[in-house]
Amino acid sequence: MLSVQEAEALILSLVDPLTRGDVEIVDLLEARGRILASSIASPVDFPHWDNSAMDGYAVRSEDVQTATADQPVTLTVVTEIPAGVASQQAIAPGQAARIFTGAVMPAGADTVVMQEQTQREGDRVTVLTTPKPQAFVRQQGSYARVGDHLLPTGCRLEAAAIAILAAAQCSEVSVFRRPRVAILSTGDELVPIDQPLQPGQIVDSNRYALMALVAQLGCEPVSVGIVTDQPEVLKAAISQVVPLVDVIISSGGVSVGDYDYVEQILTELGLIIQVRSVAVKPGKPLTVASFPDPDDPGLRNLFPLYFGLPGNPVSALVTFWRFVVPALRKLSGLPSPWQPTYVNAIAQQSLTPDRQRESYIWGHLKLVEGYYTFAPAGGSQTSGNLINLAGTNGLAVVPLGDAAIAPGEIVRVLLMQ
Ligand code: AMP
Ligand code: MG
Repeated sequence: MLSVQEAEALILSLVDPLTRGDVEIVDLLEARGRILASSIASPVDFPHWDNSAMDGYAVRSEDVQTATADQPVTLTVVTEIPAGVASQQAIAPGQAARIFTGAVMPAGADTVVMQEQTQREGDRVTVLTTPKPQAFVRQQGSYARVGDHLLPTGCRLEAAAIAILAAAQCSEVSVFRRPRVAILSTGDELVPIDQPLQPGQIVDSNRYALMALVAQLGCEPVSVGIVTDQPEVLKAAISQVVPLVDVIISSGGVSVGDYDYVEQILTELGLIIQVRSVAVKPGKPLTVASFPDPDDPGLRNLFPLYFGLPGNPVSALVTFWRFVVPALRKLSGLPSPWQPTYVNAIAQQSLTPDRQRESYIWGHLKLVEGYYTFAPAGGSQTSGNLINLAGTNGLAVVPLGDAAIAPGEIVRVLLMQ
């Protein structure tokens, strides 16, 4: 049995990120959540030209060095420059230009006096304070220069990055393709969602949960469906998706029962069992398998990595958050760290450890006056109970051993995301 940390490290070592061959071009409007496949260098200076940060007057700073409310300086307004217009008129000594936010600075002027510090009468403007030289001028290239790095490879495209790409006129961007993840559910007791339940049957809820999680991570779920507990059927289902996907996730059939065939079939199909069980609660019978490494490590991505998650609904989700999420993040082209995000929280109740396994207790993480608190979900904390997962957002990590985490003590909580 591997420790959680050993399993995490081993799994990450089995994953290679998507490469240059796994790239597609998408319209910027379709790019949200996608991962940039090549870094972006600035095609222009930002700002593109010196421009005004205020509505006011563009002046020569030497003209207004002595201006105060008692001894103001009066200048002649020779032109008006709205945003979007490049004025041809240079500002000579004693002159000013009426200027608006974002408008290009006229030649000769180097400083903007905000309009609140002036009085206007006809074509004359009186300046009532001494501005600092270059005040309220956004200098060309002061944010970025031509050729500067704007965004790195591996950047997830959200609103801010998309704004930068738009400003750099990248209407199309090169992103990694979405990793394809096959999801199949094993179990003779499982029925599709729309079928009446006969005694002993349950709905294949894991497939819905896993497809949602896979999609949420920016991957493309490929639903294989329900596979009965017959070795030949399971073998055929797995072989069929091997050439189509980057990762295969099954749930159920990885325990030690008479109908748990997953490991045997993976071995028959030529995969190497990398992980058989992990000292984690819930989720101990996690199976991870890979195809033998081809000689050329660059070809490794031709073969999917296999995750056999336990069937119990909570175990399937906990093992997904803890072990599958980092693998999918690394595969997607995101930079490290790929590990889950943890926050420290104040335990609201005693959290009981397990002697042999690191425990993950699902519950409610709340931000109370700037501090996180964690309360376990009410009802039965058993891996078959998916009902009390409702509204939960964190998994408290209780190290293995004898020491409970007492109310008021700090506990690490994994963010379910
Ligand atoms: P197994 O790991 O196959 O022994 O399954 C463990 C438990 O999880 C059993 O109670 C199953 O009925 C349940 N289970 C297995 N697969 C699913 C699924 N796809 N959806 C919901 N529950 C499942
Ligand atoms: Mg089963």
